Amino acid sequence: MRRIRSILVANRGEIALRVIRTCKEMNIRAIAVYSEFDSGSPHVRLADESYCIGPPPALQSYLRMEAIVEAAKKSGADAVHPGYGFLSENAKFAEILEKNGLIFIGPPAAAMRAMGDKIAARKLALASGIPVVPGTTEPLESISAKSAARKVGYPVMLKAAGGGGGKGMRLVRSEEEFDSCFRSSQSEVRSAFDDDRIYVEKYIEKPRHVEVQVLADSEGNVIHLGERECSVQRRHQKIIEESPSVALSGDQREQITRSAITLARSSTYRNAGTLEFILGEDGTPYFLEMNTRLQVEHPVTEMRAGIDIVREQIRIAEGNRLSLKQSDVHLTGHAIECRIYAEDSSFLPSTGTIVHLTTPGGFGIRVDSGIEQGIEIPTHYDPLMSKLIVWGSSREEAVARMTSALDSLEILGVAHNAGLCHWVLSHKLFREGKYDTGFLDEHFKGLSFPEDMVQNAVIASILTERMPGNRQNSHRRPSKWKSQIRE
Ligand code: ADP
Ligand code: ADP
Ligand code: MG
Repeated sequence: MRRIRSILVANRGEIALRVIRTCKEMNIRAIAVYSEFDSGSPHVRLADESYCIGPPPALQSYLRMEAIVEAAKKSGADAVHPGYGFLSENAKFAEILEKNGLIFIGPPAAAMRAMGDKIAARKLALASGIPVVPGTTEPLESISAKSAARKVGYPVMLKAAGGGGGKGMRLVRSEEEFDSCFRSSQSEVRSAFDDDRIYVEKYIEKPRHVEVQVLADSEGNVIHLGERECSVQRRHQKIIEESPSVALSGDQREQITRSAITLARSSTYRNAGTLEFILGEDGTPYFLEMNTRLQVEHPVTEMRAGIDIVREQIRIAEGNRLSLKQSDVHLTGHAIECRIYAEDSSFLPSTGTIVHLTTPGGFGIRVDSGIEQGIEIPTHYDPLMSKLIVWGSSREEAVARMTSALDSLEILGVAHNAGLCHWVLSHKLFREGKYDTGFLDEHFKGLSFPEDMVQNAVIASILTERMPGNRQNSHRRPSKWKSQIRE
């Protein structure tokens, strides 16, 4: 047991703010780090203390372990919280911190290696009797990969053992496509990760992505906080998440949460983690991977469970026993998250300065945001600007609340996907819960949001509207997203 009195948050944007807020509530000194680009960022202002760790590119700042360790030592931090992305799944980082007498708020390095490596995790799942997506459990060279793919049967997915963020993933529909897909996957993997191992998985047609949040302490107690469904995706990356999943029957929920707990136990996992599964068309849950960190969509679970997952992470890292037993976990109502990305309707990142921002509020609405008016959205980092999370007593209520929250969200100066989220939430199939990971590819194709045109017109009208003397002109606007969709 070691009491944590100060935490260095090795991240930026919304997740840095989110962690710092919990530190404040727990009377823990929060230390921020920032790149030269972020010196005026909200997370730096909210922290009690801050250190510059280098130039804007992440490789020269947020990914520089020595710079972070140095800042931690200088500040006298007891512990480091990595957030998600950046160094959060880097076992070497956890070890270096430990060597320097700092607590890593996350799993032990060994559990990160066992579960963060997708091939190792697949092997462990198989050994524990948990179905994995059919495919290989060894890394492959081009030639053997081709024969493995033939054995698995097309279509297949090429995936990176050390991957994440959808990088290096290639759908190969037939053998003719194999060589070029393998080459392009390999070159993307080599430029993104230290680890260039690739493996083959059967491509599951129209799967649903369902994941289970777990918490584990150092005494071996493991609980789950239910599931999240994350099937609204583009480029294999999540946009909208909800809990509970409408795809699961009671038995399937029981099975998937039991598998998650088994896997966490067999990897002697500690701290918060997520076990991801995909459901085949017949509903079979196949283990996909484990994320050995706090996830972007964790607030969806917090809203239903009434548990601050970061607080639990800190308590576990101190060596405390879990504050709840499985029977103490009561999941209520329905929660949804929309990730607001700075990107256009072709899903390409967008940059610019936020010239105007209005965020929604009210009962059951949570906004975890890293932006404010005047801030510049750069190319250096992840395009996630903000997350809108709602809770409702039923799915219907949550959908209505999110739709209305999106209506009152105004972000001008950069293209973003709030309109797309609104479109999804209004879609008949989404309302009926009949969607899978192919939903956007299938239904959104050909639709677009003419951002620049609309944005400029809206900027002009808002600025005019808000000019002194013109206030009487401001009146309720109709739902702006509907008018932006061009078929
Ligand atoms: P989640 O599963 O929490 O939704 P995402 O896949 O959206 O996570 O990833 C969150 C962030 O972390 C994104 O910026 C993503 O690019 C980044 N990321 C995820 N995995 C890795 C990894 N292995 N290496 C580097 N960045 C990663
Ligand atoms: P990442 O580390 O990038 O998060 P995952 O293995 O979790 O990679 O996969 C991300 C997404 O890609 C899944 O949610 C799913 O939509 C899709 N995907 C991954 N593997 C398969 C597969 N074998 N068949 C179909 N879709 C897949
Ligand atoms: Mg994943």
